Amino acid sequence: MQMPPEPKIARTSLLTTEVLDRSRVLDTLVHNLEGMAYRCLNDNSWKMIFVSQGSTGLTGYTPTELIDGTRISWEEITYPEDRSKVRSCIDSAVSRAQRFAIEYRITTLAGQIKWVVERGVAVPNEQGELVIEGFIEDCSAQRAVVEALEQAELRYRSIFEHASEGIFQTTSDGHYLAANPALAELYGYATPQELIADLSDIGRRLYVDGDRRDEFRHLMETHGEVLNFESEIYCQDGSRIWISENAHIVRDSQGELICYEGTVQDISDRKHYQEQLERQANHDLLTGLPNRILLGDRIEQGIARAARLGYYLTLVFIDLDNFKFVNDSLGHAAGDELLKVIAERLSHCLRSSDTVARLGGDEFVLVLNDHYQSSTVISLLERVLQEIGLPILLSGRELQVGASLGVALFPGDASDAQSLLKHADVAMYAAKDRGRNNFQFFTGELNRVADERLNLEAAMRIALERNEFEVYYQPKVDHRRRIVGVEALARWFHAELGAVGPDRFIPIAEETGLIMPLTTAILRKAFAAAREWNRKRDVPLRIAVNLSALLFLSDDIVAHVAELLREADLSPSHVELEITETVFLGDSERAVAILTEFKQLGVNLAMDDFGTGYSSLSYLRRFPLDIIKIDRSLVTGIEHEEEVAMIARAVISLGQSLRKTVVAEGVENQAQFDFLRFQGCHEFQGYLLSPALPQIAITRLLDAGGVILSPQS
Ligand code: C2E
Ligand code: CA
Ligand code: CA
Repeated sequence: MQMPPEPKIARTSLLTTEVLDRSRVLDTLVHNLEGMAYRCLNDNSWKMIFVSQGSTGLTGYTPTELIDGTRISWEEITYPEDRSKVRSCIDSAVSRAQRFAIEYRITTLAGQIKWVVERGVAVPNEQGELVIEGFIEDCSAQRAVVEALEQAELRYRSIFEHASEGIFQTTSDGHYLAANPALAELYGYATPQELIADLSDIGRRLYVDGDRRDEFRHLMETHGEVLNFESEIYCQDGSRIWISENAHIVRDSQGELICYEGTVQDISDRKHYQEQLERQANHDLLTGLPNRILLGDRIEQGIARAARLGYYLTLVFIDLDNFKFVNDSLGHAAGDELLKVIAERLSHCLRSSDTVARLGGDEFVLVLNDHYQSSTVISLLERVLQEIGLPILLSGRELQVGASLGVALFPGDASDAQSLLKHADVAMYAAKDRGRNNFQFFTGELNRVADERLNLEAAMRIALERNEFEVYYQPKVDHRRRIVGVEALARWFHAELGAVGPDRFIPIAEETGLIMPLTTAILRKAFAAAREWNRKRDVPLRIAVNLSALLFLSDDIVAHVAELLREADLSPSHVELEITETVFLGDSERAVAILTEFKQLGVNLAMDDFGTGYSSLSYLRRFPLDIIKIDRSLVTGIEHEEEVAMIARAVISLGQSLRKTVVAEGVENQAQFDFLRFQGCHEFQGYLLSPALPQIAITRLLDAGGVILSPQS
């Protein structure tokens, strides 16, 4: 609406054509306007001097009734609550000689309340007094629209402000236009304003995975909306949460994009729960490593990747040596602890792109991506072995474990996950066969060995049933070459496989649980033979038997041996039990208790393979051992390697000072024999004197005087 037209406006359009009846034109204009033109005094009642015809339509009062306040003053027409507002608005405009415009309510003749807008200005009248001229019109209709809008806005704002979901409007290129308090809180801001100011580049600042914003935009552009769009985002403090977004494009009536608008929900709890479930399904509970299921996935992914890029994928099968032993002797808690430590060490060796998984028990698998040179694989394997071999403190005891590693490569050894794993497993067994704590690569040859191994186990069961295991006896002589004892060594001659050495079948027996029946069979034979030989002798002939560490620590082993001795009617004093130091690796209290029981039974105890392993010499002091057998490796080379000689010398003198019988095994030549005898070794065993022989051959030797003068064969 405009100010009431002034005379000069009319003049410009009409002046040229005819002599103007200015007041008539003005009248016509003024009186035909919707609304009321007026002139009034700036007094308490706004006394009207001029009022146009429009007053009737606007207020119900005719101009005559209003002029001079004849019937009612404008102050009275003004809605009581709005009067002071109107006055102060007009006063302030008048004092600054400015125009004013104000909306307020009036009461019409009919008692109706109307919203009006009044625009006016103070001007001096013909006498120079200030009067107010202006125009008042009905704005109820606009007012109603505005009010409706305001209310709607208020309602929406309330939803926006109080929604528990985050709500946003952004530009398509990632700037916030609006955000509600819930969104601010979700993202870690105190207020929406802070969020809008700080998050200027959504794509780069918000999404953990930067591509997410592009995907979001792409979906918006192609479908006009996104539904349940899940992403991980950074909060203001750098922490991460998972959100789900629902959003759509807002367009104006011309179809132009105004903004993106949508809601955000925090789904972190659900995500974490899902992740936890997934983890539980895919991870080993004890170590937290991927389990067999996840391993399968990783291998397959690795193969696909390697195939695409032309790389190798390396699979390493790891089996701890002696784990069963730690578990059995130190208890499951210690075994678990050991596994956890190993798991951590393995993870440590690898890059993030590699995987270490636990298959179960003491078996782990490494999936190595992108090692395209075998030398890099080898150095990694060496590091793995080294890490595993570091001392571990378990139940206050320091111990070491080794591991056997089998390696299979994609694409050389197999082209699918299962075969690859199988081949790595086969290679691992080859590593075990090579004396443990080493690694072996898979080859076709190794495959054959593995098959044979399975055959071997089956054949062993049959051989045990048929009592086909034999015992050979290797003499031990004193410094004058008189036979003082024999060591029983298991022998197996298989119809098809030929002679199978104990180094091959004893480990299988230990792993498969066949060691107990096997040992029983061997002890029976050995004890019976010893009983036989001793029947005709004055000086006792001692029979030495090997007892696997695994068996040594099993329950009731002492009672079992005692029973076999009774059965054979053999004096325990004729028996030597050879055990290896592995026995002391774990729970040495238990080991000592069993040793003591054996001693009480009356058997002699020998430490076999002394000088090879982890053993410190302190074992010798602490444990009730009668005999130490210097390992073959310390005898070999004794005659020309000063270092070997030194160790042997030290071991012998230590044994002497502890009053143990010192036995040298693996004596192969006269020089070795002479050296050892000179150092004070008590007994000698080895090919120089005799290999292991069948019972009948020993009987003959004994019958012939029991002195071995020249090598037997
Ligand atoms: P060991 O107890 O150290 O037995 C000595 C091994 O060295 C025997 O091998 C023996 O034949 C061999 N040997 C003897 N003199 C010489 C020599 O001068 N030079 C060389 N190079 N070797 C010599 P064998 O019979 O193959 O036994 C290997 C291992 O198998 C044994 O080592 C022992 O640990 C285990 N074993 C053998 N029989 C039994 C058994 O009945 N029970 C258990 N638990 N283990 C057994
Ligand atoms: Ca032995
Ligand atoms: Ca030995």
